Amino acid sequence: MAIIGIDLGTTNSLVSGCRDGRAVMIPNSLGGNLTPSVVSMDENGEICVGAVAKERLVSHPEASAASFKRYMGTEKVFTLAGNDFTPQELSSFVLRQLKEDAERFLGEEVTEAVISVPAYFNDNQRYATKEAGRLAGIHVERLVNEPSAAALTASRISGEEEGSYLVFDFGGGTLDVSVVDYFDNVIEIVAVSGDNRLGGDDFDEVIARSFCAHHQMDYESLDRQKKASLLRLCEKCKQELTSQDETELVWEAEDKRMPINNLVLAGLGQNLFDRISHVIDTALRDSARTMEEIDEIVLVGGSSKMPVVALYLQTQLNRKPGMVASPDEVVAMGVGIYAGIKERKADIRDLVLTDICPFTLGTNVVNYADNDNPIMSAVMERNSVLPCSKTEWYTNSCDNQTIIVVGIYQGESFYCNDNLKLGAIEMDIAPVRAGRTRLKVRFTYDINGILEVEVTDCTNPAAERTKRKVLASENLRLTEEELERRLEELRTYKLMPRGGIRVKMVMARGERLYAQTLGYRRQEVAMMLGQIQQAIAGRDDRQLAACLKQAEALFDQLE
Ligand code: ADP
Ligand code: MG
Repeated sequence: MAIIGIDLGTTNSLVSGCRDGRAVMIPNSLGGNLTPSVVSMDENGEICVGAVAKERLVSHPEASAASFKRYMGTEKVFTLAGNDFTPQELSSFVLRQLKEDAERFLGEEVTEAVISVPAYFNDNQRYATKEAGRLAGIHVERLVNEPSAAALTASRISGEEEGSYLVFDFGGGTLDVSVVDYFDNVIEIVAVSGDNRLGGDDFDEVIARSFCAHHQMDYESLDRQKKASLLRLCEKCKQELTSQDETELVWEAEDKRMPINNLVLAGLGQNLFDRISHVIDTALRDSARTMEEIDEIVLVGGSSKMPVVALYLQTQLNRKPGMVASPDEVVAMGVGIYAGIKERKADIRDLVLTDICPFTLGTNVVNYADNDNPIMSAVMERNSVLPCSKTEWYTNSCDNQTIIVVGIYQGESFYCNDNLKLGAIEMDIAPVRAGRTRLKVRFTYDINGILEVEVTDCTNPAAERTKRKVLASENLRLTEEELERRLEELRTYKLMPRGGIRVKMVMARGERLYAQTLGYRRQEVAMMLGQIQQAIAGRDDRQLAACLKQAEALFDQLE
């Protein structure tokens, strides 16, 4: 029985094992090490995970979900073709797929895993990650912090067992910068800073906006599918700029094109670089370190592969970042090493900064300029030391209002809608003139990262009323029976069988291309898809194999 390591990412997930004390990356059924963290349900109710699901995100958005890691530990529900799933249930499908791939690769049953989580994950989010493991039939031996895993990889590869690391993890939708110390078998996260709305996706978007401006189109008014198509093309273009200095963005369906190179991209990303710089400064300041005291900069995450990012870091920090491994595999390798350590029953201690509140917590107040876009009123500031309790006062904004909804938000954005909603408390109030209600709102955050919000109507001191909400454990956690029941239910959703994966992949890619092309090319795609369907219906394996080969060649040519 093997223990595996899993990097359960927002955009991509990876699985690794340990052989002869070294971490080995485990490929998925399509041969790649990265499995997109996307889940989709097909017409037969089968679940597909990874590249096929990512194609379906464009062609069947209503049956697909991505980026659910952002909502781990919240009450958000995703609907796939009419079926409801929590973020941990969607994650469990990804884990199930990775477990299956690992079992096939290792040739033995896998029952245990070490999974990495962001250092700032609170108790709830960590619990939800473990629950996802349970739902996938994996015992989660332990959770490891992503920057700790990255530092471990760096120390093993450089051969320097010890040191201070600046871990720069730039993924698809998040940037996490951490200062990590590794001494005497203890990995300590000294400071974390991040922007959970900044990632490779933003580079795709700036390219898309520039493309639209170039062609006098309005980016905002593109419909959902067009936007998705364009963003995909931009992502491809951005990735091409990693291995070559210039390329061309071609939007077949709209018959539009634009040349782009790294210099242009650097200019387009100026705003994003400013935000990156802010995050690094905060991490260094919070750690009370200077760059001179950092032994190595560890590049992590797919977006760290961008030459413009590496160059920016080099000029900004006046130091060349080390390249210990492919940035998108650094965390997965680290968890693989951990898994090996576990197998040998040895240990490394992993200390986190659990004693600060990593995000600002607050509530909504009226935005008189735009009623649908409430403004965030901070109650507890980021980096408050735990345990912590803060009180603020609020009032009614309209005459004769009978209810006040106190939303609970987490994040650093000015508008509530850009922050993460954790919950809400609805308070009935007596109808009075605007500004007369006296509402006391108290946030209490304990050492385990459990948040309690209490709202008290103090308008009439003789009749004070209080409502309370605990945003953590109990109301978000399943009881043992519920967990068992949900496990049974989830078992009825079958993962797509490995055998048909290539056909599914080609079909999904064809359907996406059909949505993205027009005219002659579109007809070519349609014809190809028709031929494949015929071969499937005729159960003619030889013909099917020939069709698939032909289709792949055509699709490659179209892209
Ligand atoms: P996460 O940790 O958020 O799951 P990853 O570390 O896998 O994500 O990073 C995904 C991001 O990396 C995506 O935005 C993707 O476009 C970007 N990316 C991957 N490869 C490259 C590349 N060669 N050049 C530029 N960006 C890349
Ligand atoms: Mg990651």
